Amino acid sequence: MEFFDSHSHFNDEKFNEDREEIINLMYKENITKTVCIGYNLKQSKKAVEISKNTAFIYATCGISPNDIEDFNEKNLREIEKLSHNDKVVAIGEIGLDYYWNKENKEKQKELFIKQIEIANKLNKPIVIHTREAVMDTLEILKKHPVNKKGIFHCCPLNVELIKEGLKLGFYISFSGNITFKNAKSEETVSIVPNERILIETDSPYLSPEPYRGRRNTPSNVKLVAKRVAEIKKVSIEEIAEITYRNAMKIYDIN
Ligand SMILES: [Zn+2]
Repeated sequence: MEFFDSHSHFNDEKFNEDREEIINLMYKENITKTVCIGYNLKQSKKAVEISKNTAFIYATCGISPNDIEDFNEKNLREIEKLSHNDKVVAIGEIGLDYYWNKENKEKQKELFIKQIEIANKLNKPIVIHTREAVMDTLEILKKHPVNKKGIFHCCPLNVELIKEGLKLGFYISFSGNITFKNAKSEETVSIVPNERILIETDSPYLSPEPYRGRRNTPSNVKLVAKRVAEIKKVSIEEIAEITYRNAMKIYDIN
């Protein structure tokens, strides 16, 4: 049984002390692929560097709405240049975040749209971060279609968003949030068909139960798989296989 953690941040400084060790451990525990997600220029460069050094780690490049200070034309050109690379499998994480930033909504939208244009130019999918911005996110995706589609990462447990996202052809990636008590995980996980579901850790953030609050690592993707298996009433082996296959497909890895 092998797992694909569709979204992690080995570029994060929380891994500076023991990055190699955790990468080796993850592989030993059968998490045999992950994508190191960029979120600003510096961390996109770092993600590409990590992917170059490790065969089973891929990368994305992008500027997230929470790193809006990185938004200028020069940096966008850099993101595009960095993404001209076989190990860069998507543009992301990009999107809208009105939870942390309400004051610059227009600027966030502009940055999101410009990076959708980069994805379309390079023919790559996108990885979407959306928080408290469901309507605006969907509106932008409808007005600015992404050729290669993409992934709603750490998908908010919002039935409306998931239904609309599926209609637009996107994949839905669940993280440790579905293991939390009171999470609306049953009704949201069960509406995602097998061919569109992904699992992720978002390491080092968002540890699943029973490790909530501690540093997360890709090994914990098994706990997310276990919860999905419980809800869908199938074996964890089946969820591992389905989500692995889906991740290979959306990220176009052979
Ligand atoms: Zn992330």
